[in-house]
Amino acid sequence: MPADCSRFFARSRPAGAVPATTSRANTAARGDTALPGTLTVRAYACGKPSCRCHADPPRLHGPYAEWTRKIGGKTVTRRLTPRELAEYQPLFDNARKLRVLLAELQDLTLQIIEAGSPPQQPGPEPENRNPENVG
Ligand SMILES: [Zn+2]
Repeated sequence: MPADCSRFFARSRPAGAVPATTSRANTAARGDTALPGTLTVRAYACGKPSCRCHADPPRLHGPYAEWTRKIGGKTVTRRLTPRELAEYQPLFDNARKLRVLLAELQDLTLQIIEAGSPPQQPGPEPENRNPENVG
């Protein structure tokens, strides 16, 4: 579990609770699925000036896990429950790995283009002519 989540779990999971293990989570752990958007775990200050979060030193609210993504052109942020965070964390990790791989592929493609040599594309296999149709 990434360090940024351990604090969230330490505060949010009731004593004795079992971490969520579902078939969906198991599927996600295999690395063949990915979620769009970003996962952020953060604490924040609210709008009440008299709240503890504005004291000195401030005691912020949270931390909360928030999932931010674009839906129909609008940025939407949804707070995740600890169970959802446990289930979705591998999906965000997979998405991050894919973004890294895509960036590497794009860098490599740029290097190939800038070197002036087109990338080697394996062409389609030449069709094997049926000897009966020849002649
Ligand atoms: Zn507050």
